[in-house]
Amino acid sequence: MSRQSYRDLIQAGADQLRLAGLADPVREARRLLQLTTDFSATTLISCETDEACPNHIERFTALVARRADRVPFAHLKGEAEFYGLTLKSDARALIPRADTETVVDLALNRIPEDADWTIADLGTGTGALLAALLTQRTQVRGTGIEASESAYELAGENLKHLGLEDRADLFLGSWANWSGWKACDLIVSNPPYIERAVLAALEPEVRDHDPVSALDGGQDGLDAYREIIALGAKHMRPGAHLVLEIGFEQKQAVSDLLSAAAFANVSHRKDLGGNDRAIAATKT
Ligand code: GLN
Repeated sequence: MSRQSYRDLIQAGADQLRLAGLADPVREARRLLQLTTDFSATTLISCETDEACPNHIERFTALVARRADRVPFAHLKGEAEFYGLTLKSDARALIPRADTETVVDLALNRIPEDADWTIADLGTGTGALLAALLTQRTQVRGTGIEASESAYELAGENLKHLGLEDRADLFLGSWANWSGWKACDLIVSNPPYIERAVLAALEPEVRDHDPVSALDGGQDGLDAYREIIALGAKHMRPGAHLVLEIGFEQKQAVSDLLSAAAFANVSHRKDLGGNDRAIAATKT
């Protein structure tokens, strides 16, 4: 077989990923090669013309094939970055998204630096929102509520790995069955909010690899908001905050649900793409 350089591998990988419909095939191929070789981005640049070693070729080829099947990169790596943290991420829970960092920012606006607050994260998944908030506010304690047993296990692994077990606990069950609402100063959630009819049209990485229970928001996408806001209105103490991720077209609908249910002081935040992504309100 003829000599193959790392650059040749990137090119061949990118061609394959382009055919599979990926938007940024060269970047994807580079990061798959980094995952294969453990080379830093700069090392990879400096050795691009070197002859690739056979086991790198073999592993890279296998990874490209899986990525071409639209397996998300986070699942291939087994990790995702979120708010500066490295979280274990796999098929057990929704992959943490950069957009969701907007929810962290909006929540942090409302949590004083030295607050010794009690918080909760409804549908914690990987534990990303809870872990980010506890890391940013070192006096805060919190609970992750999770109805999926496998996601609950993954969140536990992440909180332990990040050294947060002494300030975090997890509740396995639905948010309706959780009795901690009254004790919270702030509750966050990235609930499922995709309209059911739209699920089939999502990118394959999302549709086929994120748990549907983390995506499906019912007919109009608002089922989880109606439940959370009704439970919050009933159980949260006056002055406590509710901070929610929203879909980019849901600001008005969720604002209306909040205002109709004894929440005031509503604020919003856009994600880096300029879309409405988070909403916060105070229980009156
Ligand atoms: N932001 C996710 C997506 O676009 C949806 C996550 C959710 O429903 N909470 O795929």
